[in-house]
Amino acid sequence: MSARVEVDLEALADNLRAIRDRVAPAAHMLVVKDDAYGHGLVPVVRQARAEGVGWFGAFDVETGIAVRAETADARIFSWLIASRAEAAAGIEAGLDLGVGDAELLEDVADAAATAGRPAQVHLKIDTGLHRNGIRPERWPQVVARAAELERRGLISVVGIWSHIGEASDADDDASRAVFDAAVADAHAAGLRPRVRHLSASAASFARPEFRYDLTRVGAFAYGIRSADGPAEESLGLRPVARVVAPVTSVSADGVTIGIGFLDGLVSGLAGRLEVVTPAGARILRAVEPDAATVAVWPGAAVGDDVVVLGAGATTFTTAAEQIATIGEEIAVRLSPRLPRRYASRA
Ligand SMILES: *Cc1c(COP(=O)(O)O)cnc(C)c1O
Repeated sequence: MSARVEVDLEALADNLRAIRDRVAPAAHMLVVKDDAYGHGLVPVVRQARAEGVGWFGAFDVETGIAVRAETADARIFSWLIASRAEAAAGIEAGLDLGVGDAELLEDVADAAATAGRPAQVHLKIDTGLHRNGIRPERWPQVVARAAELERRGLISVVGIWSHIGEASDADDDASRAVFDAAVADAHAAGLRPRVRHLSASAASFARPEFRYDLTRVGAFAYGIRSADGPAEESLGLRPVARVVAPVTSVSADGVTIGIGFLDGLVSGLAGRLEVVTPAGARILRAVEPDAATVAVWPGAAVGDDVVVLGAGATTFTTAAEQIATIGEEIAVRLSPRLPRRYASRA
């Protein structure tokens, strides 16, 4: 068999249940950007729907529309809306649209007028990360305008949201204070947003006061822990994916496996990463375009499987820590040319 990404949908289902229990009574929005963190959008969405996940975080409108093709009734949140045409397409598909600037709010309202149906809007306050979002000094003006557009039937403000750094508790607390003030301003302007959402994986698990009504959890659903964060097991999670490559040649110098940096295997892992061979752990020695080399083991044979990364081997986050990145990055870099193989308890 060729190199592949094996995705354990049963582990995903278990993680989704663990998240649901952990964040309740808040709901879980499963973040599925970047092809569900490299795990494959459609199978992940299907499994999540079977588990009763009611919200999806799709990042861009195109992904939101792809999720909509899988589910008529889930709420789908897209927060990258690049043009008025995209806003129109999002409204058409019944997406919830994240709006982080005043001009986009006007575009969305115009698109809704053309579509003849109100846009479901989540207004984003910039709570300090400066990654788009309405600045606090402009917020009162924007919520007043949103209330007017709502009265005219063009938009429905269903959410207030922001994104936090999750790197320091003190910074996150400061962001939360800005967020609470923004929600109060929205109410004062006459808006009645039903969902407030602020946290991603780490704060959703560690800090109950950040959960509000909805938690946007991606990485933990795939069993990818935070860098320097608690271990997967202690969070009640397990890795969902693993990268497996077959032995393609054996010599006295080393064993070649059929995966390389053109498949997204990060070459910086050479010399550091322990992979799991039939004879146990071995160091990955070199990563070339289409192949990688591992120290030889007794009895190595062409066709043997080597678990390169993920479940049952070095986790994505542990590998990422060796090269100063994050686990999600390792997962999303895996090339689409590596087939994804899905296993579930049938
Ligand atoms: C990616 C993303 C998330 C999910 O973050 P995780 O740490 O993977 O849970 C949540 N919100 C926004 C806005 C994101 O871009």
